[in-house]
Amino acid sequence: MSLPFFEDPATTRDSLYINGKWRPTASGETVDVTNPASGVVLASVAAGQPEDVREAIAAAEEAFPQWSSRTAYERAEVLYAAHRLMLERSEELATLMTMEQGKPLKASRNEVKYAADFVIWFAEEAKRVYGSTIPSARADQRFVVLHQAVGVVAAITPWNYPISMITRKVAPALAAGCSVVLKPAKQTPLTALAMFRIFEEAGVPAGVVNLVTTQNPRYFSDEVLASKAVRKITFTGSTEVGKLLAREAASTVKRVSLELGGHAPFIVFADADPEHAAKGATLVKFLNTGQACISPNRIFVHRSIAEKFLETLVARTSKLRPGDGLDPASGVGPLIDEPSMSRMQSQVDDAVSLGAKVLAGGSRLADGPYAEGHFYAPTVLTDVTSEMQIYREETFGPIASVTMFDDEDEVIRMANDTDYGLASYIYTRDISRAIRVAEQLRFGMVGINDINPTSAAAPFGGVKESGLGREGSADGIGEYLDTKLIGISV
Ligand code: NAD
Repeated sequence: MSLPFFEDPATTRDSLYINGKWRPTASGETVDVTNPASGVVLASVAAGQPEDVREAIAAAEEAFPQWSSRTAYERAEVLYAAHRLMLERSEELATLMTMEQGKPLKASRNEVKYAADFVIWFAEEAKRVYGSTIPSARADQRFVVLHQAVGVVAAITPWNYPISMITRKVAPALAAGCSVVLKPAKQTPLTALAMFRIFEEAGVPAGVVNLVTTQNPRYFSDEVLASKAVRKITFTGSTEVGKLLAREAASTVKRVSLELGGHAPFIVFADADPEHAAKGATLVKFLNTGQACISPNRIFVHRSIAEKFLETLVARTSKLRPGDGLDPASGVGPLIDEPSMSRMQSQVDDAVSLGAKVLAGGSRLADGPYAEGHFYAPTVLTDVTSEMQIYREETFGPIASVTMFDDEDEVIRMANDTDYGLASYIYTRDISRAIRVAEQLRFGMVGINDINPTSAAAPFGGVKESGLGREGSADGIGEYLDTKLIGISV
């Protein structure tokens, strides 16, 4: 199948977009991009080097004064154009994303829509960067507070949501008046390239957005972290890498936003409808083949309804058909790579050796159409306990892990017993309990009988080791603004 978006596939090698120009890296070195469903090489992109990153930072630094001094209305116009182009080209973007990332086409279409929502949301928010005045204790003094763009922003994005993680960062940065250098994950650079072509076509001026693809992420992070011109780093990815970036950002006191890993509890109380809850658990657990930071990692079910819940969970899980995301019959796509496959097996083997039971799946799919891809059978484990790896480590894959509980205080303690604090879910028909428990869960997001507490209009982010800062919502643009106080004697 030909590559959507790129009429001439060779142009993907010109994947460095620096100061408004597309080019390869000087040595001509490239990195292959493969389809995780088939192992087929789709294209090659430039393996950017440290000097490319330095050039991108210099371009962003030079472009910043002009871009930040445009009016919010002018910046919003550019974002409106990008939004329009994304919707016009959504089918090509979705197909490209499925080919390099693996998710079913329907899920890719949803992600393109979600990504476009951030662009229009922040186009509007650009016009609402209000300042304030503060009464002074002195009769001859006035205080005025302004919010101004922080400057050059470095962004690092992951492979699991290849387009929405770009717009969730770049749209508020542009709206605020910042310029950007971005590195996408090496597994999914093609969607990033397509998105940057859209920024170019929408009229983002040269140097305001710069893209560097690379095989070695340290080439990018070492340069941006050392640069005094880069005033902020925004990262979505693992907690391990997030901590490293935060530590190193301290040397130049950069602003830092981190959207990191999660270990979401999914709590089903005795008064919930077990079938409805199991349906919700299946939908959110196997979303993106479990490769989502808001994916439930510990499902806690009240013992009195566990049998009914498990019956539905197992029936629904067993019906999910793994396959190539371009095949409309596929319900779940492949995992991204081999290390992910090994992690699944290691978590299952460890859990089984410590007494967990496998009620569905539990192994790699390797025959027939699965031979060349990274497919793991959608899995249900029960009798999971706190000694098991899966209870502590982020799974990031298609394994539903179930633990039973007996009372409310106990399950709140169990749910909070993690270093992570991103998403959490509660199923109950008791409104008082819902509020009581939601208030005690130490997580950035709580879904009450709801598996998708996300939207461009809502603050997304975690507490504890799941991150710093919020994306989306009115808070999202604040991450790209500095506060300036002006004191005036009159
Ligand atoms: P990862 O941390 O390995 O990679 C994320 C990005 O960081 C990629 O672009 C990668 O190239 C880059 N990177 C890796 N090592 C780096 C280094 N030493 N210096 C600089 N950059 C480096 O994570 P991943 O495997 O791509 O993504 C999965 C993780 O991301 C999961 O933990 C998941 O929960 C998290 N995630 C969080 C959110 C959120 O919003 N909180 C969203 C999606 C994914």
